[in-house]
Amino acid sequence: MQNIDTYDFKGKKAIVRVDFNVPLNDKFEITDDTRIRAAIPTLKKILAGGGSVIIMTHLGRPDGVSEKYSLKHITARVSQLLGADVKFAPDCMEASAYASELKPGEALMLENLRFYAEEEGKPRGLAADASEQDKKAAKAEIKEKQKAFVKKLASYADCYVNDAFGTAHRAHASTALIAEYFPNDKMFGYVMEKELAAIDKVLKNPVKPTTAIIGGSKVSSKISIIENLFDTVDNMIIGGGMVFTFMKAKGGRIGSSLCEDDQLELARQTMKKAQEKGVRIYLSDWVVAADKFANDANTRTCNAMDIPDGWMGLDTAEKSLAEWEEVLKNSKTVLWNGPVGVFEMPEFSKGTKYIAKILADITSEGAFTLVGGGDSVAAVTQMGFADRVSYVSTGGGAMLEALEGKELPGVKAIRG
Ligand code: AMP
Repeated sequence: MQNIDTYDFKGKKAIVRVDFNVPLNDKFEITDDTRIRAAIPTLKKILAGGGSVIIMTHLGRPDGVSEKYSLKHITARVSQLLGADVKFAPDCMEASAYASELKPGEALMLENLRFYAEEEGKPRGLAADASEQDKKAAKAEIKEKQKAFVKKLASYADCYVNDAFGTAHRAHASTALIAEYFPNDKMFGYVMEKELAAIDKVLKNPVKPTTAIIGGSKVSSKISIIENLFDTVDNMIIGGGMVFTFMKAKGGRIGSSLCEDDQLELARQTMKKAQEKGVRIYLSDWVVAADKFANDANTRTCNAMDIPDGWMGLDTAEKSLAEWEEVLKNSKTVLWNGPVGVFEMPEFSKGTKYIAKILADITSEGAFTLVGGGDSVAAVTQMGFADRVSYVSTGGGAMLEALEGKELPGVKAIRG
């Protein structure tokens, strides 16, 4: 594995997997270019080093060639942000001539990789009632075709850079398989490096004490993260909708709050495991309860173990937030995944905002704070705290899998 800062790009063509899966409006205008901006330093570094770049990405979930998901809609914006002309190859499998003409300092964008089923390696167009045998045959066929697809992409370049953290949890042609064609010329881009460094700071060598805040709606979707983190953290704060499954498991009365009844036993076991591993659990004992799931509901502060019938806990109340604040102020490393209330409704966003503010404060006092995965990222961004925490992850699913302790195929393909 090579390092982007020390690799000699002079005269080399670099094929770079980025995540330019940006949202477009119905006029095909980009409504949020954050992902493009994120990868610009990597692309600029290669160009400044005397190399040329072949940019590859997916956009949306096309089921074959589609005008709607064409990357031609975003090429001008990439050119503008990169400060260099970006040529466009309208078929990622017919780009040899474009690639061979590239000169140092020039950039080329390949058309959407997912116009080909080979990118993901999953058969398309199978009848819903296809037999197991047909499914198996289609899978084998696409895997075979995928080999030629990977080989073709690799033939365009001298080195491979993966800067698409958002798809690092997928073993796709461009995110993982292509790396084998560049055994001595493969590396991470800056986005990947930063994401992996942030994860390592939490999971591998955290400065203690370490606290995780886990919120969101469902225990079932977070349980693997919670259990994996038991090996690293000293404290675990659990809030949001998932807390009520824990409260009910402890014998509490939770009114009509969110609850996964099939997870009660698991919640009990999880609390027991925490105790065995010496992790202190802080549940949101005090919540803001509402008489309906609406911003204009009537509200009252309740003990989360004693919520009246017909009322539901929708936010974390001051009393618990104050307790958590003490824990967080004494922490040197903090991971936050999942809002601690229904932050989409202003009335129930206060707890989540409070947490964002505490994280900003402790960051300014030297703590390392990572916000990763899904809605907590949306929350800190929307609330204006994204620049005031140490790191906000760009990769939803990839970050969640990393926090679950899973090896990401896109990372393994480079690191070995
Ligand atoms: P997740 O995708 O699992 O991180 O869940 C995020 C969702 O959890 C957001 O849409 C929140 O509105 C929701 N959420 C947070 N707290 C609660 C709560 N107390 N009751 C219901 N939903 C909640």
